[in-house]
Amino acid sequence: MKNHSEYLNKKKDFIRENSSLSENFFTFYTGLFELQQKAYDALGEVSLSFESCGKDNLPFLKIEHLKLDSKILDVLNILALDISSEIKKTNPGMDFSAFESSFVTDATDLLKSLLAKDYSYFELKEKAYKLDISEILFMVHNIFKPLMIKAAENANLKIEKEDWLRGDCPFCGYLPDFSKIVESVDNKRKLHCSLCESEWEFPRLQCHVCGNDNQETLGYYEYEGTDYRIYYCEHCKSYIKALKIPKLKEESNIDLAVEDIVTGFLDSSMMQKGYVRC
Ligand SMILES: [Zn+2]
Ligand SMILES: [Zn+2]
Repeated sequence: MKNHSEYLNKKKDFIRENSSLSENFFTFYTGLFELQQKAYDALGEVSLSFESCGKDNLPFLKIEHLKLDSKILDVLNILALDISSEIKKTNPGMDFSAFESSFVTDATDLLKSLLAKDYSYFELKEKAYKLDISEILFMVHNIFKPLMIKAAENANLKIEKEDWLRGDCPFCGYLPDFSKIVESVDNKRKLHCSLCESEWEFPRLQCHVCGNDNQETLGYYEYEGTDYRIYYCEHCKSYIKALKIPKLKEESNIDLAVEDIVTGFLDSSMMQKGYVRC
């Protein structure tokens, strides 16, 4: 797992220059990343049911096989409590008590629904948890992230472009949050999974959401004076942010999970233009 809090700290000047994250959010994300790192370390060598999964049948993680053992549940339950206290530091009015008391019972269904992108399950839970769907998704996403990152690292899949030509993650099947263009490797584009942080190659001149490859309805904006780009599709009105990695920069030093958080202003500008983030 990348050291997100350290990378966030390195982005301080950028954040200040672009007013891209308030002081409160900066503190919150630093705390959140540290809690996720703690959970990741506590997970040790997790074992999720991977049997009968393989490179020939992607995405690798099979939702129907998922089982969370008591050790995993203990670690994730502590993380759930820790994240809710972290949120309450800046937002004392929030009440996670119903979510907290149901977490262990609901954990497997929460993860399965997240991976299946079955948001109706979360809508059903709004009343019981006394939280709205965006709050539930934020919690669930951040609680399961360390587990998914560890599981992807353990599986150590080597996905070639020809193995997987889709816009969702070849390991967990979830959605990308960011992408990069690597100049030193023929301007290859790679998508980055928002959940397990796997990266996979995807054609630069194709929409990752609807598959559109008609160049007349695809394009990108460059954020002036930076290496940030936003690729958009006029056909489905979706977009994805990207970071161009110049030839002399080391690709592995870039942390796209954090790049996503510090570039919220790019999302705002795209949403104002009528595009949606998928
Ligand atoms: Zn993934
Ligand atoms: Zn599209």
